Amino acid sequence: MVTNHGRRTEACTGRATEGRGLSWGQGSGRTGTSQWRNIRAAVLQRDARICQLKYSGCTRRASEVDHIVSVADGGSDSVHNGRAVCTSCHKVQTQRQAAAARRRQRAKLSSPDAGRYPPGH
Ligand SMILES: [Zn+2]
Repeated sequence: MVTNHGRRTEACTGRATEGRGLSWGQGSGRTGTSQWRNIRAAVLQRDARICQLKYSGCTRRASEVDHIVSVADGGSDSVHNGRAVCTSCHKVQTQRQAAAARRRQRAKLSSPDAGRYPPGH
């Protein structure tokens, strides 16, 4: 069902969507603030540096902090919205969130005309 019409849309908005799978840690600077570093440290300490996701391939040793509610969904940079995760699970989680965001975006573009003229273009 996806024709070259859809492909053209993707090329058009490529700038905005090209970071798929890397919604954070992309050098945006947002996660590099000292505030976030403090939150990260507090979350890791609270969760005793044990991965909270435990997906397959989990190393159990958390070294990163994931947003429970992603920032794109209105989640905040706070200890309560963070959980300790290992690098392996964090990758899986980030991909899942990116996939969910793509699905949401696609649903928004369900009308053919909206697809031709994506918002914010
Ligand atoms: Zn894990």
